[in-house]
Amino acid sequence: MNPLLNVDQALERILADLQPLEAETVSLPDAQDRVLAEDIISPIDLPPFDNSAMDGYAIRYEDSADASLDKPAVLSVTMDIMAGSAPDGQLQPGQAARIMTGAPIPAGASAVIPVEDTDDDWSKGEGSPLPSSVSLFRGLDCGENIRLSGENIKAGEIIMKAGAVIGPAEIGMLAGIGRPRVAVIRQPKVVILSSGDELVDIYDELTPGKIRDTNGYTLAGLARQAGGIPIRLPIAKDTLDSIRALYRRALSINPDLLISTAGVSVGAADLVRVVMGELGEIDFWRINMRPGKPLAYGTIQGVPFFGLPGNPVSTMVTFEALVRPALAKIAGRSISQRAVKATTVDDMRSDGRRTYARVTLSREGDRLIARATGIQSSGALMSMVLADGLAIIPEGQTFVRAGSELNVLLLRTVNH
Ligand code: AMP
Ligand code: MG
Repeated sequence: MNPLLNVDQALERILADLQPLEAETVSLPDAQDRVLAEDIISPIDLPPFDNSAMDGYAIRYEDSADASLDKPAVLSVTMDIMAGSAPDGQLQPGQAARIMTGAPIPAGASAVIPVEDTDDDWSKGEGSPLPSSVSLFRGLDCGENIRLSGENIKAGEIIMKAGAVIGPAEIGMLAGIGRPRVAVIRQPKVVILSSGDELVDIYDELTPGKIRDTNGYTLAGLARQAGGIPIRLPIAKDTLDSIRALYRRALSINPDLLISTAGVSVGAADLVRVVMGELGEIDFWRINMRPGKPLAYGTIQGVPFFGLPGNPVSTMVTFEALVRPALAKIAGRSISQRAVKATTVDDMRSDGRRTYARVTLSREGDRLIARATGIQSSGALMSMVLADGLAIIPEGQTFVRAGSELNVLLLRTVNH
């Protein structure tokens, strides 16, 4: 029998096996939240041309020297440049061009004075007649209110690296450089298997002795949250045949990851581990953690699988500790877990296994305070509903005194 691995050893073994999936091409709007599979090099300067940052008048900045409210500089207006137009004239000394925000700076101009700093008044709205002259009420610096071509990005510059997660800003930049399609890492197909004679689905009647399958739903949610595409199969009975049939069906979907719950400990009906052993190779099936000691990992026909414990909290906690980083690696995402340090207000006990305690987090001064979420039974899913994070009691430690600092894996964004 394999020795009991600690969580870090187990994770190291799992990650060593896994590789990111291949790339696929998607249209830009579908790229949101996906992982970029290519470096993005801009083919153009952005902005592509010098343009005005203000509605006002483009001038030669020297012409505004010493201008003030009392002694305005008066220039003759010779051009009218709207956004989207391409001016071809040249601004001569003593001339000004009326210009809109985003419109190209005409040749010869070196600054833009905002309309508020002139005697012009556009409050009459669009289509105000072009005045023959304009008075400037202040002097301008060279380049003032001009957005230079290439000041945002230069042609040939790498603007995003493979591995970046595409958010709205990235989508905007990709649109800005004219990329209708982009290569992203394929999303892992995650098949989720539940088994147990006691389980019924959410639409079924809850007859005596039965409970609803919650793990199938929490795992689908976790897989989706981690960037995967969850596929939940019907619940198998506690027979070898039923579980075998479910595994065969799962494999026929060509999954990138298989996750089952229940049936991996040493109870009489723990048949999942038997079928895993028949159809594939179990790498290990116990881990020195709490909750979650019975946890099988291996491969079936080249597909990595996790046999997670059936207790709903154990299922979620083992997902956080091991499956989330594994799925992140397959999905090409960062595997580092979101952790903070927090001070516990409760005395905490453990049996010496690495323990993940469900806690709420609150801020007191410059410290984060962790409070146990009441009942810590591995069957009590409500402790996960309440939890902001999982406080980790290291292996070998059986008692944590109130006031000690612990690492806490974040389950959600905490803003209190
Ligand atoms: P087992 O590993 O089959 O001994 O299951 C351990 C505990 O988890 C039992 O109380 C099961 O009823 C419960 N359990 C197993 N699978 C699920 C599931 N899919 N949803 C909710 N509870 C489950
Ligand atoms: Mg069972």
